[in-house]
Amino acid sequence: MSDVRNHEFPYRRVCVFGAARSGVGAMALLRHHGVEVVLVDEKPAMEFRSLIRRLKRLYVTSYFGDFDESVLDTCEALVVSPGIPLEHWLNQTAVNRHMPIVSEVELASYFAGEAAPVCAITGTNGKTTTTTLVGQMVTDAGKNAVVSGNIGRAFSDGVLASQDATRDTVLVTEISSFQLELVENFHPHVAAILNFSRAHEDRYPDMRDYIEAKLKITHNQTEDDHLILNADDPICVKAAEDSDAQIWWFSMKKKVKQGAYADASGIHLVEDGTTTAVCGLGDIPIPGAHNVENTLAALILGRRLGASVESLAKTLRKFKGVEHRIEFVAKSRTGVEYFNDSKATNIDSLEKALASFKQPVVLVAGGMDRSAAFDRLNSLVRDRVKSLVVLGQCKSKIKKAWGPFVETLEAETMDDAVRIATELAADGDVVLLSPACASWDMFKDYEDRGRAFKRSVKAILEA
Ligand code: ADP
Repeated sequence: MSDVRNHEFPYRRVCVFGAARSGVGAMALLRHHGVEVVLVDEKPAMEFRSLIRRLKRLYVTSYFGDFDESVLDTCEALVVSPGIPLEHWLNQTAVNRHMPIVSEVELASYFAGEAAPVCAITGTNGKTTTTTLVGQMVTDAGKNAVVSGNIGRAFSDGVLASQDATRDTVLVTEISSFQLELVENFHPHVAAILNFSRAHEDRYPDMRDYIEAKLKITHNQTEDDHLILNADDPICVKAAEDSDAQIWWFSMKKKVKQGAYADASGIHLVEDGTTTAVCGLGDIPIPGAHNVENTLAALILGRRLGASVESLAKTLRKFKGVEHRIEFVAKSRTGVEYFNDSKATNIDSLEKALASFKQPVVLVAGGMDRSAAFDRLNSLVRDRVKSLVVLGQCKSKIKKAWGPFVETLEAETMDDAVRIATELAADGDVVLLSPACASWDMFKDYEDRGRAFKRSVKAILEA
């Protein structure tokens, strides 16, 4: 544990609510800086056996299962994990006691800037792909990229790693609107807002609250910082008015004055009046126009983080994308290509996936219903989908919507679905899992579903 260096962090004893990834990350970062921690979680202690051993070593007091508001008695602030709603009684108790509530990202940002610049990426869609690509760009440019945030590793954990790093480090951070909600001091040197679309209506009935949350990414930026925005998204265009940072634009539709754009000849970078051709569209291995957008944003981010155009072009050419996002799985001897897009849990994502292929598609779709209006994709499905295999809780609903114009078969299991899809696919077709539904009816999560698909494909191709 280091000496107490938290001269800016104002609290000496903090309650951390939630013992999953972000709460544990917050706890470790606080202990590293000598702050006392009380860790609480409503799940029973038996679910945290190995964590409890670690907590003992770090001198952290913990309460699991039942606890009451006295856990706050000796604390000066409450750190809340992003999954816990603000309405929760413990949060409300803190509010009633006028106790500051600090989000995990906010807490980590107290300690973030000192060791490494922060690059933060938000937006409704494309965050993980862009963040992963930027991490690869920074690594290929010879620096130490610590990728964290809403992506496998808590921001606090990334910050802690950056403080121990001996090499030139960049904190590449994916940030959701949930994480930005409670942020006051978060100050990325380089930030990007990829897009805004009507998402998370349950949490944000009013779209303005959602936009407000995302705009917090730039609130502390100054003219020495950089904000990368989507020139084709009207809300991003308005966001530029609210930022003091230097603005960089990306566009799929037009040339930009400062930033990056794509046209039929490829992608181009525009910096201080000079336009540089980076690569052709065919050089980008990840499928779909939406991934060209992500590539444009990543390119500007990579440049602002010090990578050369040559190095960036090399990274773009070899980037294979992220697991479960139109991920190439295998090609059969007859030339049928299999893609896993299990992350497509809504119809917007299915729309992107279908638009990414020129070949006829045998689509595997279905899962847990989220009141999706499948009819909206009728014409795209009619044009792009050759045959449909439906699976899971809402298979009849999908069959009702698309069955009248596409050959549709029902499957009981993933193995079944892949077998039927393989029988329906002809040479050169694509078999695509892009469910347009949540996964929880049959699987633990979308990753579990994607892995099941890949296993089934491998089994059938090796048989
Ligand atoms: P996020 O982390 O924001 O959920 P991902 O990179 O994981 O984004 O991509 C998830 C899905 O979002 C993709 O499978 C694709 O359907 C869609 N998507 C990705 N990038 C974009 C984009 N730039 N614009 C619109 N949709 C996108």
